[in-house]
Amino acid sequence: MLPKYKRILLKLSGEALMGENSYGIDHKVITKYAQEVKAITDLGIQVAIVIGGGNIYRGMNEAETGIERAHGDYMGMLATVINGMALQSGLEKAGLYTRLQSAIKMEQIAEPYIRRRAIRHLEKGRVVIFGAGTGNPYFTTDTAASLRAIEIQADVILKGTRVDGIYTADPEKDPTATRYETITFSEVYKQSLNVMDMTAFTLCQENKLPIIVFDMNKEGNLMQVIMGKPVGTLVKG
Ligand code: UDP
Repeated sequence: MLPKYKRILLKLSGEALMGENSYGIDHKVITKYAQEVKAITDLGIQVAIVIGGGNIYRGMNEAETGIERAHGDYMGMLATVINGMALQSGLEKAGLYTRLQSAIKMEQIAEPYIRRRAIRHLEKGRVVIFGAGTGNPYFTTDTAASLRAIEIQADVILKGTRVDGIYTADPEKDPTATRYETITFSEVYKQSLNVMDMTAFTLCQENKLPIIVFDMNKEGNLMQVIMGKPVGTLVKG
């Protein structure tokens, strides 16, 4: 059976990296994710990754942080670079070649984001991690994921979460909630379902980029998604 996708953008939340902890990076999670990514790159899949920063810092809530929103957002973007470096180290330990590209210049540790160079890395089989989100405050790493996926012409965004897809209601609160196998963009709007923030979601819809929401913590799930198995929820036009 052939893989369904050739080039993917994997979005991982910063919080996922915490594992059982309430802050920071659990190296066991990094190792696990690195192995999952290695398995699909071994099939020749081109993998780009956007990682969040919520396990270290979120700039959004000025009332809570006491720091001006835009300033805090830049701090949040730096947090994604720390996560990107951790992930890079894990991926390289798993035997992969990687490049970290940052939307904010920090030449000693990451390449600047250059679209055509990112594509070239992917073509050579390197895993490209996009750090520092979009480089702009008032955005999220979900938006960075949508934007980069469109720019590099990825076939799909894979949003790895703790939940195994999109449900009719919050499955953690409502036991009768059922999972959608596929759903259209307009249905997501109509039902006010929470897939990504609006900016990120609209970018995908306008550019006809499908999204798959799936449970990244279940072993082998990433491979299942790549092979086109009905794992998680597929959002498409
Ligand atoms: N952020 C930003 N612009 C971006 C991406 C991220 O300002 O393009 C900041 C924002 O403060 C955000 C933080 O970085 O709260 C961490 O990213 P996010 O909350 O998306 O991470 P996740 O929820 O995926 O861990």
